Amino acid sequence: MSARLDERLERIYQEVTHRNPGESEFHQAVHEVLETLGPVVAKYPELAEHKVIQRVCEPERQIIFRVPWQDDRGEIHINRAFRVEFNSALGPYKGGMRFHPSVYLGIIKFLGFEQVFKNGLTGMPIGGGKGGSDFDPKGRSDDEIMRFCQSLMTELYRYLGEYTDVPAGDIGVGERELGFLFGQYKRITNRYESGVLTGKGLAWGGSCARKEATGYGTVYFLQEMLKARGDDLDGKTCVISGSGNVAIYAMSKAMQHGAKVIACSDSAGIIVDEQGLDLARIKRIKEIERRRISAYADEVSSARHIAGGNLWEIPCDVALPCATQNELDGKDAKRLIENGCIAVAEGANMPTTPEGVRLFQEAKIAYGPGKAANAGGVATSALEMQQNASRDSWTFEHTEQRLREIMIDIHRNCHETAEEFGMPGDYVSGANIAGFLKVSKAMMAMGVI
Ligand code: GLU
Repeated sequence: MSARLDERLERIYQEVTHRNPGESEFHQAVHEVLETLGPVVAKYPELAEHKVIQRVCEPERQIIFRVPWQDDRGEIHINRAFRVEFNSALGPYKGGMRFHPSVYLGIIKFLGFEQVFKNGLTGMPIGGGKGGSDFDPKGRSDDEIMRFCQSLMTELYRYLGEYTDVPAGDIGVGERELGFLFGQYKRITNRYESGVLTGKGLAWGGSCARKEATGYGTVYFLQEMLKARGDDLDGKTCVISGSGNVAIYAMSKAMQHGAKVIACSDSAGIIVDEQGLDLARIKRIKEIERRRISAYADEVSSARHIAGGNLWEIPCDVALPCATQNELDGKDAKRLIENGCIAVAEGANMPTTPEGVRLFQEAKIAYGPGKAANAGGVATSALEMQQNASRDSWTFEHTEQRLREIMIDIHRNCHETAEEFGMPGDYVSGANIAGFLKVSKAMMAMGVI
């Protein structure tokens, strides 16, 4: 791990690793937060007295269950699914479901832990949770996806509710999967409980701008970081990892603000076009045809596909990691800095390794960690809950405006908190401390629970 912890926090960290063996991503996420809490425990001794940090590192409830389902040939498959209900001090557990073969308890716990602080930062009344399964949706038919989602919800429904736990999407879970999940929840419970899931389709209780929100929000946060340095996005070259929902809408908003997006990726490789990528084509290939990103280079002569290529080797002004955890390491960070990159905003959760984060901070580039920079998605989920609760639906413009205000507020909060604790420009400390203070105040008010 990177920075050293002060003695008291080191003891808490050792206890976390001891109690949660083999969960390296969870350890990493906890270490990254504890690294920044030294000045907070010094300023507020009551935190130690109330054991708030120990409590915040222990999920309130963890559910692990079997998901049996049949493929189109009738063969039976057994997957494992999780829901980690991490913290409900600020509201019902809130966070996505991830379907990916790499999912195990350690991944869901790291995501749930980060979600607690992220959701605190949004200022909305939502606690933190996360779920998912090691199910691999790649190559599965719509019918297979449906049967899997129905089987999963047949167990999960008993733990959910609009006042209890409200899942949404994440990697491998979008509107199609949420539709199957919602349908099964409705059928089992005999309740049309719109507020039990977010990221719903517009025809059945979803919010305008939810699909766009994570990517848009990341670019709003980026713009605020640049603005604080007297700069903006206009004319900047930009590389964006991934080509899923977050990457596509980060691309869209960056382009709207005058950036030239020259590269993106999927797990098989990268595509590069120095003349700038064509967003409509990427959307068709990924959202409608559900094909690999290499198809883009087959269609566009100025573009090239590099199988297994490393996106971070492409020179750029701005890098937006929007794919997955630990996708950008120390070597990559060094290369980006050498190539003149001035800003990094994370659309994904924990995409930069601790070594990468350290290098970005030492180089003093504008670095916005996921907890803050990608909070627009879950913030707009909270706006969806708000609309569902009042049986209302807002226009795209109104919802996007709210999202923009929330991202500006998050930036301001992180910026001011970093200054207050003597680390100006350090958005990692700013985000962790501001998110932590919000949650810990609520926890202390509620007593020993
Ligand atoms: N999965 C998203 C995240 O990482 C969104 C969660 C939600 O909307 O509840 O924040």
